Amino acid sequence: MDKNFLNNLKYLYDPVEIAFAWSEMQSQAIINHPEFGKISPNDYRARFNGKVCPFCAQRMVHGQDLHMTRSRDEAISRKYQYADKNGNKKINNAGGIYYHPHYVTLDHVVNKARCPELMFKADNLQIMCWKCNVEKGDNNSYEIELILDFTRDIAREALERYKPL
Ligand SMILES: [Zn+2]
Repeated sequence: MDKNFLNNLKYLYDPVEIAFAWSEMQSQAIINHPEFGKISPNDYRARFNGKVCPFCAQRMVHGQDLHMTRSRDEAISRKYQYADKNGNKKINNAGGIYYHPHYVTLDHVVNKARCPELMFKADNLQIMCWKCNVEKGDNNSYEIELILDFTRDIAREALERYKPL
């Protein structure tokens, strides 16, 4: 991998250039993963086909053709449509292609627009399904908020089960 390319990432500030740098490297073994070794973003995602999303516990899918379509009608008939956290109907869409709601995505813990130099760093990358990625958006405390909700649910359930006398 071109060292200059990685060194120059930190000078990127234009969102279009940042998105371009990310998309250009999708098939390049640019991520140095502690478990998988040198791996491309595409191969990284492909490894999680059929695995469970760590955030919503739904089974994720990956693969051209099988879980994407150019037809909106086809997407709806395949039940790709879902309600987002505001209750709005949504279908994951990128570049005019519609994707399965739990399609595997590679999320940046710290948004690549904020810290482009971290965009290929293994410890700034996490797998989550597309739907969870949309919900996370640019919220850097997404994970901690989920844990907080989960902890509150447990506390609520405990209070219901063991009512004070
Ligand atoms: Zn998910």
